[in-house]
Amino acid sequence: MDCTLEDIYNSKRIVKEYAIYHNICPKCRERLKLITYYEPKCEHFGYPASEEMSELRCDCGWNDGID
Ligand SMILES: [Zn+2]
Repeated sequence: MDCTLEDIYNSKRIVKEYAIYHNICPKCRERLKLITYYEPKCEHFGYPASEEMSELRCDCGWNDGID
C-alpha cells in the first residue's frame, strides 16, 4: 500500500475526531470522562475570578491535549 505521511496524519486526525465524538479513547478504546474544573484567574476588581474549563480524559493517561 502506497501511503504518504500526510495520509497517515489525516487518518490519525480523523480517528481522533471520530473517537472524541463517540466518547471513546483513541488510544485504548475505553470510555472517556469529561472533567470540568475551574482555572483560577487573576482577581477582577477585587473579586477572585475563575474560568470553567473542561477536558476529555481516559484512565490510560490520554487526554484531548495529546496528539
Ligand atoms: Zn485510553
